[in-house]
Parts: sequence; C-alpha cells; structure tokens
Amino acid sequence: MGLQVPGSITASKVSSFKECGLAFRLSVIDKIPQPITPWTLRGTLAHTVLDRLYFRYDGTNRTRERALELAEEVWAEALTEGALSGLESTATNLHSLHREMRTLVLQDFEAEDPTKVTALATELRLETSLGGVTLRGVIDRLDLNDDGTLTVTDYKTGKLPGEVQENERLSGVYFYALLCEKVLGQRPSRVQLVYLRDATRIVASPTEQTLKGLTSRTEAVWRAVCNACEREDFRPRPSKLCRFCCYQDLCPAQGGSLSLLETFKVSHGSRKDGSRDGGASDGLGN
Ligand code: SF4
Repeated sequence: MGLQVPGSITASKVSSFKECGLAFRLSVIDKIPQPITPWTLRGTLAHTVLDRLYFRYDGTNRTRERALELAEEVWAEALTEGALSGLESTATNLHSLHREMRTLVLQDFEAEDPTKVTALATELRLETSLGGVTLRGVIDRLDLNDDGTLTVTDYKTGKLPGEVQENERLSGVYFYALLCEKVLGQRPSRVQLVYLRDATRIVASPTEQTLKGLTSRTEAVWRAVCNACEREDFRPRPSKLCRFCCYQDLCPAQGGSLSLLETFKVSHGSRKDGSRDGGASDGLGN
C-alpha cells in the first residue's frame, strides 16, 4: 500500500532525507514531533528578535539597544504564551536561555552592520512547483543591495560548520535563491549564512549552473522519497547525529524497533503540518 508521499519539500527536508531516511520518515511522514530543546528554542527566539529588528526599524534605528528591547519583548511573550513549557524550566535554565538569546542577537551586530541593510522582507514564505513537487521555504531575510540585486540571508545559531557541512548548509540557502528566481523572477546575486554564535558570515554567489545542479539534485531526492514511500523503505543511516536523535527507541540501528511506532505516536502525539520550515537545516544537533 505504501506510505503517504509528503505534500511538499523544503531545504530542511532535503537535508534530513540525505542525513537519515528513517529519521526523515518519522519526522516528515509520521509527523512525530521532536522535543523542544534549549538550543532549538534559543535559536527560534533569536530568529524572532532579528525578524522584528529588521522588519520594524529602518537602518539608522537598528541599534543594539533596540535589539535588546525586542529581546525582552520576545522573551516576555515566550513566558506568557507557554513556549518554554516543554523545557525543564528551572531558574538556572531560564536565566541561561535568556542570556544566550540576548548574546546571539547582539552577535549579529558583529557579523554584519544592520544599519547598512535594506531589508525588503523578513520571514518571507515562498513556494513554487518543480517537476511535480511543491518547493516551499521561509527566507529569514531578503535584502536589496545598492546595485538593485538581491541578497538572501539565513541565520544560523549552531556552530560554524566544517568544509563538508558548509557545502550542505549552502545548498540550503541556494534552495532559497532558487525559490526567489522561480517566484520573484530574479536570481539573488548573493546568499549569506550568518553564524550568530561565531559572529561570522559565509557568503556565496549562486550562478545559473549552481541552481541548475541544485534543481537536478532536488528532483533526484524527491524521486528517492517517492520510491521509499512506495516501498515503505526508509533506512536508518547511523552517524554522529544519532546522539541528538529523539527516535532512537524506534531505530533498529540503535537497538530500537519500528514495531513501537503506534505506541510512540500515542505517547508523543503527532505534529500538524504547516509548521515553519526549519530553514536551511542546522542539522539534528545544531
Ligand atoms: S538514531 Fe541515527 S540512524 Fe536511527 S533514526 Fe536517528 S539519526 Fe537515523
């Protein structure tokens, strides 16, 4: 009978499928939510603060003071809206999380100069179809350069990647460039990954060739996902990411068993679709 084919594909889903087929299946098809961790929450909060900073204020008003005011606003909302409820909310944990979120936000001022940025959009949702599949993405920030070209910015809160992972991360942000080209009719002249923790940017220029290659690879991943669904064959791929994986009890490579899936779904619930694309994935552990 086969498994339900996902309705769309995002940069993080492509990356997740390549990292481990079984984890992809459990997250994307069975929709078993991954637990909230301090580092994912810290990243979400920092993204929200920067989103507001660039959306609400023009260049000259994007100061550290404003950023910290927004950090307090976002933190207060997280406390009142229960965003922290999935965590072990001891006073020490909350204090660290609050401090780390503020630090990440301020690091953006070290990585780039927010006063010089002309932000056209933040949290920009785009989608298009490609070879029978819908591509979706949420772009952290789309900037207008002085020469009229576009820059796609993607914030990262994990650590700076090594060379191999860097290419994988760039594939994620090239995916957004591809969406811009298809939906907005303009290929961005630059993409940049802003690593907040290390206050470092990785900048690249997508060429026609780059996006052509990405299109072929995305179509190939999509075909592989469809085949795996048809055969119900999503294999585990053990790697160093396993230690961060929340599906170990279901994973044969870790001594678990998929026969526990239904019980697992009941105890962990299952996620509704429509959640934010995790961006160009930081990876399971970052
Ligand atoms: S534990 Fe490792 S191999 Fe198993 S599902 Fe998770 S990431 Fe894949």
